[in-house]
Amino acid sequence: MKSPDVLVAGAGPGGCAAALGLAERGAEVLLMDPGPSRQCRLAGEWIHPAGADALRSLGLEFENTTCARNRGFIVHPSDEETPITLEHPGTEALSMPHETLIAALRRAVAEHPSITFRTGHRVLTATDQGLTQSTDGCYRTALVVGAEGRASAVRRALRPDEPAAIRLSRTAGITLPLATLPTEHYGHVILGAPGPILLFRLTPDRIRITFDMPAPGPRPESLVRHLLEEYLPHIPGPLRPAARRALTTRPIQWASNAYRPRDFHGRRRCALVGDAVGHNHPLAAHGLSHALLDARHLAAAAALGDYRSRSRRTSWTPEHVCAALGRLFITPDAISADLRQSLFTEWRNNSAHTHQAMRQLAMLDTRKWPLAAALARIATHVLADSDFPDVTTVGRRVRELIAWGLWLGHPHPPYRFPPPDSKCQSS
Ligand SMILES: Cc1cc2nc3c(=O)[nH]c(=O)nc-3n(C[C@H](O)[C@H](O)[C@H](O)COP(=O)(O)OP(=O)(O)OC[C@H]3O[C@@H](n4cnc5c(N)ncnc54)[C@H](O)[C@@H]3O)c2cc1C
Repeated sequence: MKSPDVLVAGAGPGGCAAALGLAERGAEVLLMDPGPSRQCRLAGEWIHPAGADALRSLGLEFENTTCARNRGFIVHPSDEETPITLEHPGTEALSMPHETLIAALRRAVAEHPSITFRTGHRVLTATDQGLTQSTDGCYRTALVVGAEGRASAVRRALRPDEPAAIRLSRTAGITLPLATLPTEHYGHVILGAPGPILLFRLTPDRIRITFDMPAPGPRPESLVRHLLEEYLPHIPGPLRPAARRALTTRPIQWASNAYRPRDFHGRRRCALVGDAVGHNHPLAAHGLSHALLDARHLAAAAALGDYRSRSRRTSWTPEHVCAALGRLFITPDAISADLRQSLFTEWRNNSAHTHQAMRQLAMLDTRKWPLAAALARIATHVLADSDFPDVTTVGRRVRELIAWGLWLGHPHPPYRFPPPDSKCQSS
């Protein structure tokens, strides 16, 4: 190849999409990845409409035999409450095995005449002058893209003293062949266990179940017992025997989840995309869409500053939606439990507000004010529905709600989940 204009480190969703976008703009791109070994890991499989749109704009279409198309989510608040259906208005989310997505992106990369895809090599370090050291030698390029995920070597080189990401939880994943979802074409979010359980269709003949275990969680030797005792009873009855079999007789896939705010997009000749920019709990399933949209914004930007401000602008709302859902859905404190009830009442009774919420979750509406308005509305309902014996109680409630809003308004919500055995203190 001619000497590359751009070196992209990491051929995950963000790196492949960035390589394709930049090559389409006329750059000669070298894409480097240590290899195929990480392809079968437990990682992103649900792609929100905004991410699905980004894939289409790269020319990637998926056959119905390799993926599932989803109309939205059904939230199961607890065993006693009626489930809540949330529709993706006028659009659909995709779901597929992570390796299917990666294989399709890597095929497109390998076929592009302006991209050289080198596997078996990793980037070791880079400078903001565009000098990259890799196991394949040194390169000097006009742009280095750090797309190596959460442990980005490019990010580490630019910010060596940064503290480690905050550990949030671990996820266990199983698949059930030939199983049927409680309602097809929807992702199911089951609450009531120590962490949320997600069920969705992965392919026409397989469904995925993931179990989230908030940190620190049980000791490694008790993990399966914990899943069987605390999570399995919340799985819908018809799926429970197959889920039990999968948990006890087949290997479980594990992944750890961590939080780093999306606060650093690189410097000078180095740009970061995807998880290298920041990452959060997979509950909101935003990681893939962030990676694909970062790549799109980077390829369209005239300068790194433009990319940074565009990505920041479109990341703020999804990041805060994810933080809010995490606090409302995972072992909520008393005030969060009340806000959650108020949110569920709104979702049950107001289709316009529910559509708005789904557009935010799907990353189709990234404006700040609709999210702020939604939170103000549900907080007002909490106050209106409270039974106040005296002025002191009213004052305490108002202070708690303000503290909640301030926590979320903080640029990097530092909420740490309580240990799994601490009880929800719903008032
Ligand atoms: C359990 C779990 C479930 C998830 N579910 C969802 C979901 O349903 N929907 C969703 O949107 N997101 C989900 N996510 C998040 C999603 O997987 C990530 O946000 C997404 O994969 C990030 O893409 P990326 O390209 O930035 O990084 P990665 O996918 O991590 O890809 C990084 C690539 O860089 C390569 N690499 C690593 N080091 C180097 C190096 N030094 N040099 C060169 N290459 C290197 C790796 O081999 C890899 O190919 C989930 C995450 C987890 C853990």
